[in-house]
Amino acid sequence: MTAFKALGLDEQLLQAITDMGFKTPSEVQEQAIPILLEKDTDLVALAQTGTGKTAAFGFPMLQKINIESRTTQGLILSPTRELCLQITNEMVNYGKHKKGLNVVAIYGGASIQDQARNIKKGAQVIVATPGRMKDMISRRMIDISKIEYCVLDEADEMLNMGFYEDITEILSYSPDEKSTWLFSATMPKEVSSIAKKFMYDPQEITVGSKNVGSSNVSHEYYLVNTRDRYQALKRLADANPEIFSVVFCRTKRDTQKVAEQLIADGYNAGAIHGDLSQNQRDIVMKQFRNRQIQMLVATDVAARGIDVDNITHVINYQLPDEIETYTHRSGRTGRAGNLGISIVIVSKSEVRKIRSIEKKIQKTFEKKDIPTGMAICEKQLMHLANNIKKTEINHDIDTYLPQINVALEDFSKEELIKKFFSVEFTRFYNYYNKAKDINATAGVQREYSDDTGSVRYFLNIGNKDDFDWMSLKDFLKDILGLGQDDVYKVDVKDSFSFFNTDEQHKDLVLQAFEDFKLEGRNVNVEISENSGGRGAKGRGKRSFGSGDRSRGRSGGGGSRGRSGGRSSGGYKGGGYKSKRRDDSSGGNAGDRSKRRDSDSRERSFTPKTGFSEGGNKSKFSGKRRGKSKPDTGGTGGRRRRRD
Ligand code: AMP
Repeated sequence: MTAFKALGLDEQLLQAITDMGFKTPSEVQEQAIPILLEKDTDLVALAQTGTGKTAAFGFPMLQKINIESRTTQGLILSPTRELCLQITNEMVNYGKHKKGLNVVAIYGGASIQDQARNIKKGAQVIVATPGRMKDMISRRMIDISKIEYCVLDEADEMLNMGFYEDITEILSYSPDEKSTWLFSATMPKEVSSIAKKFMYDPQEITVGSKNVGSSNVSHEYYLVNTRDRYQALKRLADANPEIFSVVFCRTKRDTQKVAEQLIADGYNAGAIHGDLSQNQRDIVMKQFRNRQIQMLVATDVAARGIDVDNITHVINYQLPDEIETYTHRSGRTGRAGNLGISIVIVSKSEVRKIRSIEKKIQKTFEKKDIPTGMAICEKQLMHLANNIKKTEINHDIDTYLPQINVALEDFSKEELIKKFFSVEFTRFYNYYNKAKDINATAGVQREYSDDTGSVRYFLNIGNKDDFDWMSLKDFLKDILGLGQDDVYKVDVKDSFSFFNTDEQHKDLVLQAFEDFKLEGRNVNVEISENSGGRGAKGRGKRSFGSGDRSRGRSGGGGSRGRSGGRSSGGYKGGGYKSKRRDDSSGGNAGDRSKRRDSDSRERSFTPKTGFSEGGNKSKFSGKRRGKSKPDTGGTGGRRRRRD
């Protein structure tokens, strides 16, 4: 507490700090608070989320504003509604002993009239997202012509999200003499230029070094073949029974798909991405905070508002395009003094990206092996043993003890323990017993593309699946989210096809068809040995998926249990949906109750993995064991929309 006092904070703030239980100032607070209290200066602070940056600007702002006045004196702009609410909440807590303080949150998706009414009461501090703020200023609902302090929080995120113009416009309504305090986790060019444009001779502070990740986070990567990516994710989850994680994918579609697969496989998972309504996102976030969801699969944009402190693992299911984004992702763990692990699942072609990230964040990744099936079994078994040890005895059972004793009287204690564990363990064991090693060996990375920068792919669907070149092209464009000219040289044979994209789309194509199913059948894409055109010399060689290739080429999936052909030609959009239709429970992604009829109802509300804890039926039943069992899809009763 004396350390906070030494920073120059007033009694009311010190009282709030005691109430909140903060013992010592964090690094960013130590650096920023004295500067901001002493001078009226602009400030650029490089600090990640979770470093205590809200208090670093919040304390000085609350100390410097005049509570007696009802004029708006402080404005805090933040990228997302979630962050806006979080900051508002923190500010209210910090200022709870400052009588008369009114902090108002302004954000989209809620009643503008209610917000205007709150402002009218006199808000000394406004915390806002740029879009709604701009809107309310232009409708003259808010006056910021007298603000003295303006905070641009998570400036890099706001720019990433395209708020540059909105911010510029908002600031044009504010006085030039104000102090601007910019906080950002990273310092890309765009943020430096905004600092130059809007700030005068700013003081600079850096917590850690520029673009460097938090020291509380360790970084690991796992090398697998592209087709084993999802298996790798499951094994990592199973090897960490207490996992509480955010799993990052690159697209909304992949995010939804991975979450659906995890749910179908019995994990407590959920998806958060831009195609969900605010209400749906709020529900998912609430479940995540309550730990009903242990694996939150997210896009980068949607994850921006995630402010949960105890995330154990960030999993990069797919690497982001920008290294800055990796810093943001990994910053979701290792917060508030906790340790965290940032995991990357990579294919051979992505290993070089790991090296670039290492350089940028100045941290070394540890290469780790995906645990073997037996190692996972051991982990789960010990987890179960520890849970039993921790479990408080429910004495309501006492009434039934005589009957139970009779039923089990022939067994020794040892036999009973073995039997008891076998109830859960056998199922788990059967699943992992013959599980193969899915670690890929790093070798010299083969060149995929030909000299023209074009890559030709082999795809195990064709005329037999009612595709002609036109409908297949449409299908590919839709699945990949690419334009008319990005997919070319589409050549449809009887049971397989070829097509080309430019080299730059190669990863996207390979990832798009990981675990992809069409009407219950696996659709595989592979790099073709034949470059297919544009005068290519055709030196491109496939470097993985040899097993699948032979299967694929021998006539597609006809022999692999395809349940029936299409009734009419071509792709109807969202072909990936068809796999769900195989499910006897109806396959409506939105109709969760139907799916559960044949499954354990407790499943998604008991802790994630193999052994059920508390439920009378293991959520592990069925799906986990039967690889071939169709994916039932769906997350939390939401109907998936296509990207
Ligand atoms: P932030 O980086 O502002 O999102 O803060 C992350 C979390 O750390 C929030 O829950 C804060 O309430 C908490 N926090 C901020 N400053 C301190 C401190 N000095 N000691 C302990 N916790 C803090």
